[in-house]
Amino acid sequence: MSAPTATAATPDLVTVNIDGRDIAVPRGTNVVEAARLLGVNVPHYCYHPKLPVVGNCRMCLVEMGVPAVDRETRQPVIDPATGRQKINWMPKLQIGCGTNATPGLHIRTATPAVRQARESVTEFLLVNHPLDCPICDQAGECDLQEQAIAYGRGRSRYIEDKNVKPKHTQLGPRVMLDDERCILCSRCIRFTKEIAKDDVLGFIDRGSHSTLTCYPGKQLANNYSLNTVDICPVGALTSTDFRFKMRVWFLKQTNSIDTESSAGANTVVWSREGQIYRITPRRNDEVNDTWMPDSGRLLYKQVRAENRLTTETPLAELIAQAKSLLTGAVAPGSSGMGDSPMGSGGMADPAMRTGAAAPSTDESSVPHNPHGRVARATQSIALVASARSTMAEQYLCKKIADQLGIPAGSIHVPAHLGQGDGLLVSADRTPNTRGALLCGLATGLPKQQLTQLAADIDAGKIKTLLVINEDLAEAGITSEQLAKVSIIYLGTHANATSAAAKVVIPTQTVFEKDSSFVNQQFRLQRSKAAIPGHPGTHNDLVVLSHILVGLGGHDFAGSPIAAWSRLSEETPELAGLDYLTIPETGRVLDSTRFAHLAFPETEGLHYKPAAERQEESGARMQESEARP
Ligand code: SF4
Repeated sequence: MSAPTATAATPDLVTVNIDGRDIAVPRGTNVVEAARLLGVNVPHYCYHPKLPVVGNCRMCLVEMGVPAVDRETRQPVIDPATGRQKINWMPKLQIGCGTNATPGLHIRTATPAVRQARESVTEFLLVNHPLDCPICDQAGECDLQEQAIAYGRGRSRYIEDKNVKPKHTQLGPRVMLDDERCILCSRCIRFTKEIAKDDVLGFIDRGSHSTLTCYPGKQLANNYSLNTVDICPVGALTSTDFRFKMRVWFLKQTNSIDTESSAGANTVVWSREGQIYRITPRRNDEVNDTWMPDSGRLLYKQVRAENRLTTETPLAELIAQAKSLLTGAVAPGSSGMGDSPMGSGGMADPAMRTGAAAPSTDESSVPHNPHGRVARATQSIALVASARSTMAEQYLCKKIADQLGIPAGSIHVPAHLGQGDGLLVSADRTPNTRGALLCGLATGLPKQQLTQLAADIDAGKIKTLLVINEDLAEAGITSEQLAKVSIIYLGTHANATSAAAKVVIPTQTVFEKDSSFVNQQFRLQRSKAAIPGHPGTHNDLVVLSHILVGLGGHDFAGSPIAAWSRLSEETPELAGLDYLTIPETGRVLDSTRFAHLAFPETEGLHYKPAAERQEESGARMQESEARP
């Protein structure tokens, strides 16, 4: 062992020596990961940091030595030549993936013996490989291709005919297998068995005839099947959606979030020239490890969906129409609109402009809003906001509601609930319920059916609805009720609500704008714009900003950064948080204020419901109290 260094071991760390350099690593770290911490690459195929170790590819063979100890005295054996503890090197190479760091372990990764082992494994793997890189989807991100550059011979000594194995085997609706490319690493088998809990894959036949297949009568059809494509180190497993569509080196990568549920799996969006080609998981060990659901990968299709809303009407005109409706809905003379630009110019209803139905203007009879402005709402406007909106959008919705004096009882955020799958699709099928709570847009958990709104419409109490990307028909509002109100709809896709709306402002999907969401763990996460906005659509924040300014509110200039600086000032949980410095892995926020709420999510990957967490900590406390 070398002399102690600044990285000397603490109780949870062990010091190992790799290629002559000491490093302290957490106990249990294997040699591949320990080397990675030093910037040393130990090539491997079957090893995957989130799967059980099997050690069958033999690519990570390294020289390994342990500190010598006298068998009788149990004292260190000192090498007289160096004055340090002697290292007993093992006569044969050992696999790095299956060897955990132990105190004083010595590793050599760059010796002639190691290189020869890597060259032998590479030659062996290429014996029956079809070498079809020019037409293989994995080209550019293929471990075998990369190792062949480093350790391949450049020519084959194999003169016999190569094995012929099944090609174009559809393993499931989304995964295609080319068995000739398979190097039998078993990552896909371990994933389906250990992570997806859907044991459908296995090998049949022996030796070089071994073949990956589904068990008889089964299919690789679970909602996590495409993770096998991600982890396949070669091009054996390909996505039916992505294959032959685009070379990966042409694609731009943008960090994003899976917005299909509150699990908030971290993702990478791959795009070129304004078109998205695929979505893959981004590693976050606190949220989704290296996995994501198949359903989240297909969300990009919403960008070019047939029912995508677009318009050729200039935004200024749409905003004016929206203002006109909102102005008409607020009682004339009310400070909410009367003092604003739209108050004098945008009213749709002449009766309103003349003040024929004006209520009392006695300021003592109306409540003050939280920002000190007088709010004289007629109670005739309701806001239906969305838990699918970003933090900044929700904040601006709240500001618009405040500006209009809409009471909390007339602000609705519909819930979208489903069955949690125990992994990365949670019961809350929106990405940002917690964001709505944090910025005060929602005062309680969202409800699936907007029964109060329906009753208010029927009673004639609500005349105008500002709806943000929600279909009220799904929330229990009937077409007759929709026909009774004037609707301003901001949204991405056509639905019953947009069809009934008087003003429709097409907005953008999560892939077209910078966003932030708070997931089920109260983890604030950022998603970046991957592509420009679809023609004929407008950035939600810009639209909301224009509406707010038209109502006499603060001008956020459609910028998430500007909205954030105010939002973080007003929200204790976000104090001091700068939008641009939200870490790529997110930031967990204090959730104490919402501890009383019974959120719908059940246990998933890296998530436990609060009740279970409390039970566990209670049990731990009882245990420690019971100890003598
Ligand atoms: Fe490994 Fe890919 Fe073969 Fe599965 S298909 S065993 S992941 S090489």
